[in-house]
Amino acid sequence: MSTSYSMWSVILAPYNLPPWKCFKDPFMIMSLLIPGSQAPGKDIDVYLRPLIDELKELWSDGVETFDSSTGKCFKMHAAVLRTINDFPAYGNLSGWSTKGYMACPTCNKDASSQKIRSKICYMGHHRYLDPSHSWRRSKKFDENIKKNC
Ligand SMILES: [Zn+2]
Repeated sequence: MSTSYSMWSVILAPYNLPPWKCFKDPFMIMSLLIPGSQAPGKDIDVYLRPLIDELKELWSDGVETFDSSTGKCFKMHAAVLRTINDFPAYGNLSGWSTKGYMACPTCNKDASSQKIRSKICYMGHHRYLDPSHSWRRSKKFDENIKKNC
């Protein structure tokens, strides 16, 4: 917590490889390494711009690529399937507010949040359980069951 240095990385994993190879070191691509005294915050857009431009080109036009297994060239296209990041980074990347009473992206406008001491807590997520699940009506999680079910 007291470090004066921050390092953010953006790593790409090609998903057309077999699952046991996708997230292994030799097959992952480190496209960005952002050093600094603090997290880039919303300025991460500036760092991501060249990557986004290349991904857009790969999506729309594709790039002529050599396939060594067949010995032929083909037009390779790419798309972003998903991102893995912490919740503050999710806010910076998506534009979603990750602070306040409406911060839960799953609940959106139906967020059940309340202030407990100095923190805002997000309650009532047991409403997403199967209706027959024993925790669905348990008062151990939230005494405000009627509001959340
Ligand atoms: Zn929620």
